Formats: sequence, C-alpha cells, structure tokens
Amino acid sequence: MSTTKKAHVAAFAFPFGSHPTPLLHLVQRLAAAALDVHFSYFNTTKSNHKVLSNVNLQCYDNIRLYNVDDGVPQGHIFSGNPTETIELFIKATPHNFRKRLDEVVEETGMKATCLLTDAFLWFSVEMAEEMGIPWLAFWTAGPAAISIHMYTDVIHDKLCQNGKIQNLDQTLDFLPGLSTIHAIDLPTEILHIDTQFARLLHSMSLSVPRAAAVILNSFHGINSVVENDLKSKLQKCLNIGPFPLPSPVAPSEDPSGCLSWLDHHEAASVAYISFGTMLAPPPPEMVALSEALEKKQVPYLWSMRDNLKGHLLEGFFERTRSIGKVVQWAPQLQVLAHCSVGVFVTHSGWNSTIESVLGGVPMICRPFFGDQMINRRFVEEVWRIGVGLEGGVFTKSGVMNDLDVVLGKDGKKMRENIGRLREFAFRAVAENGSSIEDFKSLSNMVSKLHVG
Ligand code: UDP
Repeated sequence: MSTTKKAHVAAFAFPFGSHPTPLLHLVQRLAAAALDVHFSYFNTTKSNHKVLSNVNLQCYDNIRLYNVDDGVPQGHIFSGNPTETIELFIKATPHNFRKRLDEVVEETGMKATCLLTDAFLWFSVEMAEEMGIPWLAFWTAGPAAISIHMYTDVIHDKLCQNGKIQNLDQTLDFLPGLSTIHAIDLPTEILHIDTQFARLLHSMSLSVPRAAAVILNSFHGINSVVENDLKSKLQKCLNIGPFPLPSPVAPSEDPSGCLSWLDHHEAASVAYISFGTMLAPPPPEMVALSEALEKKQVPYLWSMRDNLKGHLLEGFFERTRSIGKVVQWAPQLQVLAHCSVGVFVTHSGWNSTIESVLGGVPMICRPFFGDQMINRRFVEEVWRIGVGLEGGVFTKSGVMNDLDVVLGKDGKKMRENIGRLREFAFRAVAENGSSIEDFKSLSNMVSKLHVG
C-alpha cells in the first residue's frame, strides 16, 4: 500500500471517557464519503480495544488503527488518583503520537496530509504547522463549552480577585450567549489552571483559532449567539451533528434485552438512568435515587457497572424486580428513542444530552464535572427540557419531586420544547441542511493533498 500521491489523514484520539468513539465515528463517516483518502487512527492500546468492541471496521478498506504509548511506565503502581492515567498520558504526548505517525509514514510511504485530532490535543497545531499541513480540531462537546474555554483569560480578568473567583453566583453576562452560566458552573480546569490537564485545556483554548477548522458534534440553531461568536473567532467552525443522525454507524447490539423489556411498558413511563462511561454518584446518592424509584414505583432501566451494585441497600434489586432492570451497558441511543422512556436521569454529558434531545426525552440532571454543569444549565434554563436537582445532589425527596415534575404535566411542556430542538436537528441533516453542507466542506478539506 504505497502511494505518495494519496491524501492521508492522521486522526489522534484523546483516550478517555467518551472521547475516542465519536472521533472514530467521524473517521468512519469521512472514510465512507472520501474513498480515495487513507485514514490512520491513533489511540492507546487499551482505548482502541474498548472502542473496537463496539465498532465494526471490516467494511472500511481505507481505515487503519494504530496503538500509541499511554505513558504508563512498566510495573507502575497506581496511587488510586482517578486523574493519574490522564496525567501520565499527557506527559507522553506529543512524542508518543509523533513517533507512531513517523513509523506509519515510513511503513506505508504515505505522508500525512492533514491532522484530524481531538481538540484537547492542542500540540497537533504545532506538529501540523511543522509538517506544513492543516490541523482540524474535533471538539466532542457543545458550542457553549468550547466558547467558555476560549474565554478563559477574559473570565479570569473579569471575575478573579487575588487569583480567585470570589462570587461563584456571578453570571457570565459579559460573554455572548452565555449569560445563564454562573461561575459555579465552570469546569475546575477553568477556575484553577494548576494541573497538567488544566494547562492542556488552557493551551487548547489558545490554539483552536489556529486550526484550519474546528468541528463540532452540534447543529445550527442550538445556540445561535454562541455559534456566531465562535464563527467570528475561528477560521472555520463546522457543525456536523447531531452525530447519531447522518452517521452510517450500525445500531448497537442489545444482548441484555433492554428494548424488548421496554416494549412491555406504557408510553413515557420508564426512568432510564445512566451516568456515562466514567461516572457514578457517591453511594449515599445512589441509595437516595433508588429509594425514590422504589417509593414512587417508577419502572426503571439502570445502566450500572457490576462493581457499583453493592452501593445500593440490600434487597433493593429483589424488591424492585418487577419494576426494574439493571444492565452493565445499554444501547442508549435506541433506549432513549423508545416510546416507553419518560425521563432520563443523567450526568449531562454532551452525547447523552444530545441523544436525549433526539429521543424526545426530558432529563433530570446530576452533573459532576467538565462541561456537564454548563449542559445542565442549558437544559434547565435555556431550552427548558429538564430539571437540575435541588442542592445539586440526589436526595430521596428531591428525586421524588423531580420524577413528579418530569413525568407529569411539566414534562409534557418539556417534550414540546425538545420537539423544537429536534426540528433544528433534523433540519440540519436533511438534504442541503447546514450539518450536511458543513460535512461536505470538511470532506473536501480532507480530500485535498494540501488545503490552500
Ligand atoms: N452509553 C451507552 N450505554 C450506556 C452508557 C453510555 O451507549 O449504558 C453511551 C451514550 O450513548 C453516550 C456515551 O456513552 O454516547 C456517553 O457520552 P457522554 O458524553 O454523555 O458522557 P461521558 O461518558 O463522556 O461522561
């Protein structure tokens, strides 16, 4: 496989949480649209293994996956700090990607003609500039979150006194389209740039204007003011979402029978519960949530890793067997599209939020970190398609009240509001829709040997 005249896109994944999968989906979409372009996808061994368990690449002749060093020294004993793997990985960058890319170029005889990388991997801009090729930065979260990152220094100038934000209730009313966001909603990495990860994000915020394009899993109309502001600051801002819609990716399998279980329930009656790929509430909150479900006898489908089951009170699963189902992993997109689901109890990750919108399901939001508090604020106060929790945490009475709200009359109103957002989403991916046109523009960019 050696041709020097072939466009070769090198895609670099950030190997944590839900980041690698949407990048691979994007590579798949591009590979299907640009058959003469070769795609190399670089990710850590562990993350590649995980991603491949859900994705079938057999029908893509023009995609190859490669493993890069994760930075964990041989025989390393982990301290138990959850951010340790991220910090070790960051230390290994950019050398790990550069080394593997050089090897691949040597093996295939195809020089990289473009870097398409997770926006977090900001050093890609320097690598791309050195190689004389464009950097395409893929932002896996929403437009408001990247906008806020890009305003990190402005936020510090405006809100910090003696290096600290004093009033966490203060809103970001000095930033376009972000007046509902409070300082307390900001990711800690914006509030305190004192860890390696925070410095990585800060460097990213300064680098994205140098990207030939920033690609978002978002769609026109979700937040027009922020969208226009981003467009004025970036060379190109391409909204090519919502991802699940125009993608050629096959529906997930359902070995646990979630969908057939849902078939046996009334319309809009079931609470679907999931906190994404990494998170779980602290045990007392899980107990409070379970007690509320049991007390209200709300049918529930809970995506819960096995190691968390012990956090619930003894007998809960037996007592609620007739109303509940617990699975290790749910085909979330299809679950949320099922008419029986009436509420999504979520950590407000961007993908989960978008998937809930597509399914037409209102949310009860329990955000933890990163962009999740920003998403929650939009869900509750801008789009009005869900509720946050009183005090920000699950309590039995709080959840009972929120279930009444979302499964009751207010939920109907929220469903109408979701309907309006869904319309934007479907319009964006219809023929000549904005996301389709932005995707074409992206596909043209990667097909060129050099982007002029
Ligand atoms: N997901 C899933 N089944 C599960 C739990 C999660 O398919 O049981 C998927 C979900 O559909 C979403 C992703 O995992 O696409 C979670 O992404 P999100 O951005 O919401 O959260 P993160 O994992 O990044 O915190």
